[in-house]
Amino acid sequence: MEPTERTIINRRIAVLPDHLANKIAAGEVIQRPESAVKELLENSLDAGAQCITVIIKDGGTSLIQVVDDGGGMDEQDALASFLRHATSKIASYEELEEIRTYGFRGEALASIASVAQVTMKTRRPADDMAVVVRLDGGGAPRLSREGREPGTSVSVHNLFYNVPARRKFLKTTTTEFRHVYDAVHRIALGSPDVAIRFISDDEMIFDLKPATVEQRMIDLFGERQFASMIPVEETTELLAVRGFIGKPVFGQKTRSNQYLFLNGRFIVNRNINHAVFSAYENLLVKGTFPFFLLFIEVDPRRVDVNVHPSKMEAKFEDEQGIYRVVSTLVRKGLAAAGGGSVPGLAIGQRDWAEGGESLRFTPAQHVWPGPVDRATGEIFQPPAGGGDISASLLSPPSLEAAFPSAPMQGIDRAAEDQSALIWQLHNKYILSQIRNGVMIVDQHVAHERVLYERALRRFANELQTAQQLLFPYTLQLVPGDYALLTELLPHFALLGFDIKLFGKNTIVIEGVPPDVKGGQEERIVQDILGLYKEYQQHSPMDVRDNLAKSFSCRSAIKAGDPLNESEMRALIDQLFATSMPYVCPHGRPIVLRISIDELDRRFGRT
Ligand code: ADP
Ligand code: MG
Repeated sequence: MEPTERTIINRRIAVLPDHLANKIAAGEVIQRPESAVKELLENSLDAGAQCITVIIKDGGTSLIQVVDDGGGMDEQDALASFLRHATSKIASYEELEEIRTYGFRGEALASIASVAQVTMKTRRPADDMAVVVRLDGGGAPRLSREGREPGTSVSVHNLFYNVPARRKFLKTTTTEFRHVYDAVHRIALGSPDVAIRFISDDEMIFDLKPATVEQRMIDLFGERQFASMIPVEETTELLAVRGFIGKPVFGQKTRSNQYLFLNGRFIVNRNINHAVFSAYENLLVKGTFPFFLLFIEVDPRRVDVNVHPSKMEAKFEDEQGIYRVVSTLVRKGLAAAGGGSVPGLAIGQRDWAEGGESLRFTPAQHVWPGPVDRATGEIFQPPAGGGDISASLLSPPSLEAAFPSAPMQGIDRAAEDQSALIWQLHNKYILSQIRNGVMIVDQHVAHERVLYERALRRFANELQTAQQLLFPYTLQLVPGDYALLTELLPHFALLGFDIKLFGKNTIVIEGVPPDVKGGQEERIVQDILGLYKEYQQHSPMDVRDNLAKSFSCRSAIKAGDPLNESEMRALIDQLFATSMPYVCPHGRPIVLRISIDELDRRFGRT
């Protein structure tokens, strides 16, 4: 077989000519319209703008224009601003060590100008006229003057017109629009004191007034989603954090609703994400992610933002310290907010029509907050006659559907009212009348939650109490299980098992926790070990948690077990005494509620 032919380039090493080097580097700084928008917006913020307008056409591929009312530049600076590594923001290495501006590399304008046709109009308040600089892809800049209000406007036409390979990589204009939208949205969240207007293809996408963080969040996420957030705040000598975390039942289907601002700059940081996630452990419905928005302020000297071309990553001096602070902050926030709130029901027309499951559990799905109709990719028309465009465009429609009436108040504890009517449905669900509607509880997962927390408490208290069996059971385990049980024996003891190891894979069960139902004593240990092995594959470190989950799952009453009235009441009582009555340890919902309003609406009474 012939060896594969190789291409050998026989050429001398040379420094790339500037225009070529710029194009390559531009690929890193400017990857798509979104990056140009982000850079231009950050320049406007660095220039002290109070009001910024972003205009794009065709997802930013044919036009991006950012207009600000910031400090502006004189002629010399306007020209210099397009030179590579030309910046007004740092002058020395020491200053790089304590960056307080968004920009500092002096690359963005040079990069943009090398891959697009750019016009900059800029005027300092003290000057009479604006300087106009036109560049199109390499040639000498053309200068002129014109009348214009103070501030700067940068227009970027036909991005990548001279880099066909890059242009080919751009996605549909809808996709590029979404990316731009995300960037503007993030910056708008990070700088609530600045008015930001965003116009795409001549439509106002949002028009945000200067506001508090809270008001800006309402403007961008809508009242309802804002109401599902828990404010958090903490200051240590290392850092100050403040922001919002989502109530657990409002977990999002995607990770995109996670916002981290470090000294005002949006960043992505796995360490901090992990700190947040782990604090939510066992509180979230499976496959959902918590919403969070955290503003972290750290001494700039204790963090390096110059570790990534897009500056979206940061390296902290004390990663562990940050982790601890964030983790504690989130745990405290969740604890203070109590159990969260109860998922409502979405009884959609479609569900009835299809004759499928008509009652659907709807943990607040991730809601695309933007103006794009996901199904059609169409951009919503802004409502006629102006009005509060931002609010009406952005208030998440599916949350409305999912929580038709006062969803955030949680349930009145039905069990408190002993006269509340209560039924068991198909030996599986408990139905109860509550003050403003009806509540449905899945008996198995409810009991699972109760037993799970009981198990965790037993671990925490380190008390060994077993209910002795009159007739101990002698069992032979498979060798693997025997070895595992040997390892877990102390934990089993805390749970309330009295088990003796007899060697040769033989055990004697002499006592079990009181929660184990009669008749189950013989199987329960093997069942728990079986489940434990399963859970352990997913999270090998959480020995006790896995054991608590296995125990509660195996010992809980099952679907199909008939319950009498007092058993049902006791279960509901115990459920609402847990820290998280709404989600089982595996992330399944426990309680659903249909409000009277919802029923009235469905029956056409309102
Ligand atoms: P950097 O932001 O890293 O300094 P840029 O290439 O983005 O690099 O900008 C170069 C310089 O141009 C900035 O340092 C700033 O002095 C000036 N500049 C850019 N945009 C604006 C603006 N909108 N208003 C005033 N000055 C600006
Ligand atoms: Mg910049």
